[in-house]
Amino acid sequence: MIRLLEKNVAGKIAAGEVIERPISVVKELVENSIDAGSSDVVVEIKKGGTEYIRVTDDGMGIAEEEAELAFMRHATSKIEKAEDLDALTSLGFRGEALASIAAVSRTELITKTRDQKTGIKLSIEGSQVTYKEKVGCPDGTSIIVGDLFFNTPARRKFLKSQAAEAASIIEFVTRMALAYPDIKFRMINNDAILFATRGNGSRLDAIITVSGRKESSKLLEVYGESQGMKLTGFISGPGESRANRKEQIFFVNGRNVDSKVIEKGINKAYKERLFEGRYPICYLFIEVEPDTLDVNIHPNKREIRFDDNERVTEFIEETLKNALLSQDSIPEIAAGKIYEPAKSVIPEYKKEEKYSEQIDVKNILSTMRENENISHDSNIFVIETPSTYESNKIIEKETIKEPAPVIHKVLDFNELQVIGVLFETYILASLDDEFYLVDQHAAHERVFYEKLAVRMERRDTFSQEIMIPITFDCSWEGTDWIEPLLDFGYVIEPFGPGIYAARAIPDFFDQSGAETFLKDYVAALDDDIDFESRELKDMLATRACKSAVKGGDILSGPEISALMEDLSKCRNPYSCPHGRPTFIKMSRYEIEKRFKRV
Ligand code: ADP
Ligand code: MG
Repeated sequence: MIRLLEKNVAGKIAAGEVIERPISVVKELVENSIDAGSSDVVVEIKKGGTEYIRVTDDGMGIAEEEAELAFMRHATSKIEKAEDLDALTSLGFRGEALASIAAVSRTELITKTRDQKTGIKLSIEGSQVTYKEKVGCPDGTSIIVGDLFFNTPARRKFLKSQAAEAASIIEFVTRMALAYPDIKFRMINNDAILFATRGNGSRLDAIITVSGRKESSKLLEVYGESQGMKLTGFISGPGESRANRKEQIFFVNGRNVDSKVIEKGINKAYKERLFEGRYPICYLFIEVEPDTLDVNIHPNKREIRFDDNERVTEFIEETLKNALLSQDSIPEIAAGKIYEPAKSVIPEYKKEEKYSEQIDVKNILSTMRENENISHDSNIFVIETPSTYESNKIIEKETIKEPAPVIHKVLDFNELQVIGVLFETYILASLDDEFYLVDQHAAHERVFYEKLAVRMERRDTFSQEIMIPITFDCSWEGTDWIEPLLDFGYVIEPFGPGIYAARAIPDFFDQSGAETFLKDYVAALDDDIDFESRELKDMLATRACKSAVKGGDILSGPEISALMEDLSKCRNPYSCPHGRPTFIKMSRYEIEKRFKRV
């Protein structure tokens, strides 16, 4: 039932946005359609929405006697008391959208509830009802907003081009279609149907329909639940990324939001898995308890406030990592498209490789292995397993539809059959109905990196004395900058004003490698560096690994087994620390398809 909010309740609600642009109208109307329980929503616009906006739904409709009330300020059927705000499950609640829209346009409402035989048609012009009659119409509501801002010409001036206005509307409807895969959304622009989702409940289908790209089907499904939070969605594996965040789309309790808190969780999960400056594709749908979220902020702001940011970031990170650690995240050669790393990235990598030092990888690895054997520590590597699925109890909520949990399988390295080596670079292997190629160099880097990280963590340094100290200049004040180098095994002493000498270097570098690393480090010092930060250490470890590992070694059978064994113990076995994949795979089915056997 639509009623007017009492003054004190209305006063507690942050003031709504005045209708500024056509998108504001579409947003309010579509949200109303969703709140009305619709399963079919059509959005039609003409001339960027300035001339014509129509939103038609098959929802619950508005009863004849309430139709006029719906257009009054603070008239809503969604809340009654101030306490209702904390348990909000609807998108609207302010009860002022229709009033604001009607005040600045010629609006027409056609609506019918299931119980009523005939519907009602209402015309409103700048808040005045000008026409009302019974009409025959299907169940649901259709609202047409024509001549937007006809009576407020000043606002027309602030509009962007029709194309730009249309673009923001289309983007919004796209996002709603993603958020509500069980609702059929049709988007019509200037008489052309742009997309029509199937409304079959499949998010992936919705993503494919609106993004119009086939690769979407290769996205990795994520699923996680923890402490009343739930995350579902689709993300890209190590083989695919974007140059910007455009394909990072988030929904919290059905609302499309921007959130640094969520982005942070993504960044953490993909750390060491993507090249710097590349962004994963992430369609994330998050459900949290409504009372842990502040929605009563400016309605046009897409930022939201969580009670506990850290908890949310951590949850996102863990859930994404689980998916990224699974076998499914290995890039697949399929559907006639061969995996191709982004062009801008690979030449860059090669370029740096040229400077890398000629170090014997096999040697490093075997020395490291020996050291490990001496220490007899089986806890050097902890393999993360997807534990969230089993241990956390499912929080049943009626308002939240329950997609089936995705169970990710972790690749069983013990079962992997190594077949041989291709081009002296790629290890060939198979398991069940999958065929794998492992990039030896990327694998070495990953193994080296993780071993280095473990040793650094334990401050188990690994210096080698050198005959002739490396001397270098450093104008940096104090000695803070030396600290991170000590962790790697450098021993550094002052040698004169602004001059220093390294008497010992890490055991995994040769002298020139150690020198290049040192000088690069000194050259990169700047005021913003926090010498104690984890980020700096990680960055240095990544760089060390670039200089220490080189490709092109011909590995013997036992060496391959040892490398695979080492890789299996890695926390992130599927990509090198710079973000290249270590594995790619092809299914038996795909192979048979290409030979036209199936
Ligand atoms: P709010 O959504 O904040 O309640 P609105 O001004 O958007 O306020 O809508 C006022 C009321 O009109 C709603 O509370 C709802 O009862 C009714 N209404 C609006 N649009 C629809 C619709 N598409 N289907 C059914 N009822 C609707
Ligand atoms: Mg509303």
